[in-house]
Amino acid sequence: MLPIGGANEIGANSYYLNIAGTGIILDCGMHPQKTGLAALPQFDLLNNLPVDYVLITHAHQDHLSALPYLVQRHPYIKIITTPQTRALAELTLHNSVSILRGQIENDEIKIYSHEEVDLLIQSIDYKEYEKTFEITGYSSQSTETVKVTFFDAGHILGSASIFIEHDGKSIYYTGDINNENQMLQPQCTMPKVKSDILIIETTYGSTDSQKLLSWEKESERMALSINKIFNNNGSVLIPVFALGKMQEILATLWHLIEKCKLVQTDIYIGGVGEKINRVYDYNRYVVRRTDKEFQLNSILTKSFYEIKRTNDFFKHPCIVLAASGMVIAGTPSYKFAKQWLSQKNSAIFTVGYMEETTPGYILANAKRKDKIKLTPFMEPMDVKCSIKNFKFSAHAKREGLLKIVQKINPQKIILVHGDPDSIDWVGAAILKKDKSKIVYAAECGKKISLI
Ligand SMILES: [Zn+2]
Ligand SMILES: [Zn+2]
Repeated sequence: MLPIGGANEIGANSYYLNIAGTGIILDCGMHPQKTGLAALPQFDLLNNLPVDYVLITHAHQDHLSALPYLVQRHPYIKIITTPQTRALAELTLHNSVSILRGQIENDEIKIYSHEEVDLLIQSIDYKEYEKTFEITGYSSQSTETVKVTFFDAGHILGSASIFIEHDGKSIYYTGDINNENQMLQPQCTMPKVKSDILIIETTYGSTDSQKLLSWEKESERMALSINKIFNNNGSVLIPVFALGKMQEILATLWHLIEKCKLVQTDIYIGGVGEKINRVYDYNRYVVRRTDKEFQLNSILTKSFYEIKRTNDFFKHPCIVLAASGMVIAGTPSYKFAKQWLSQKNSAIFTVGYMEETTPGYILANAKRKDKIKLTPFMEPMDVKCSIKNFKFSAHAKREGLLKIVQKINPQKIILVHGDPDSIDWVGAAILKKDKSKIVYAAECGKKISLI
């Protein structure tokens, strides 16, 4: 295996496998905090190697958004994912075009166009969960077949873990995985057989699981805090990822209102998240769901684009769910956060993982009366609103990761998609349980022999 991006960080996740002459790329992400070439996987590492297939685990930016650049370099590559990820990729890739246009300061890379995205989506082949299919490398005229099966990874709609079999050996790549239920998304399913090699994400490796309550407990804690802000006539801003977290939090708020744990209120949403809600709804019978009858569009929401002056959010208590989740400069949540900071009765609630270099991380670690700079070049701002952190995880806790290792029972384990502390914790914990395991911390550009 050759990691060409991601590996020891949550960035441009992309991993190359050469299985008996068939070149397979797992994921093709773009680094959410970098721009230009630095945001892409190092495609040059693939020069002179067979490149036949790219298998996409899910439609988050750090697993999908560099795909158009890969296709520009390898026009004949075959793209395969789940039907839901294909539908979501159409929305998120078009959205990336708009975001990239607003971000790029240099012309190191050409921004892909909406037309390119349309063509790319048409060329994506899709396979359902747990239906094994066969692929054969065509660029090196390999005659060997490789079997591939997608399993529901329990992370977001359409997310898959990938089980690859060839010549009596197998590889299991978790992608982003969760083995606990969320509000809408049930926990992952896994192959019934063991696998020789496991490539596993480690997002929450350095997070003490005591700090991660169950979804229900955490939602009740959030309801209490929202009610408190409402009693003071304040409004609550919740930065969320447009894909996954927006739908899960929206459904959570609705259930709290239905159970009379949260007062009825105006909920504002907007942007691509609204379109993604519809994809969640129309797929509800064809994927696993905690409640197949529940529809996001049954929730009365308002569009934040209809609010002309941000001050209007503070006339009556309300909740605003806005992307991006990590409050990246230029996004609606960033724009709103700056307004919220000056409102002493209101609050910003974070609900997920924050990468250390992001404005979201600075916000999550600030408290009332601090002076903060969300970006290096902005004037310091007083924090007048209250800030609270909640953890609604779409990823397995670290003990959950160890359970996956135990169930898959591989000989070799490759740790990816985590910061160095997370990778260290998971690696040490695996070896503590069983010294006979061979554990690698993946590094971009460093080949790992799987045989
Ligand atoms: Zn993800
Ligand atoms: Zn990810």
